Amino acid sequence: MPRYEYRCRTCGDTFELSRPMAESGAPADCPSGHDDTVKLLSTVAVGGTVSAPAPRAGGGGGGGGCCGGGCCG
Ligand SMILES: [Zn+2]
Repeated sequence: MPRYEYRCRTCGDTFELSRPMAESGAPADCPSGHDDTVKLLSTVAVGGTVSAPAPRAGGGGGGGGCCGGGCCG
């Protein structure tokens, strides 16, 4: 279940909640009981949807990249 981060505008506290995505926009009460909260843009760990970096075509096939980074001088 994804975790969402919220901030209470009443006491300024931030807190996280684990809730279904369907309820991500639902109001959340802060631990102190305030309901004036806003949802923050947080790092939501979603597995399996991150696209892997595409392999560079015709890059020599060495797979190194040391000299490419300039570390060889
Ligand atoms: Zn609060």
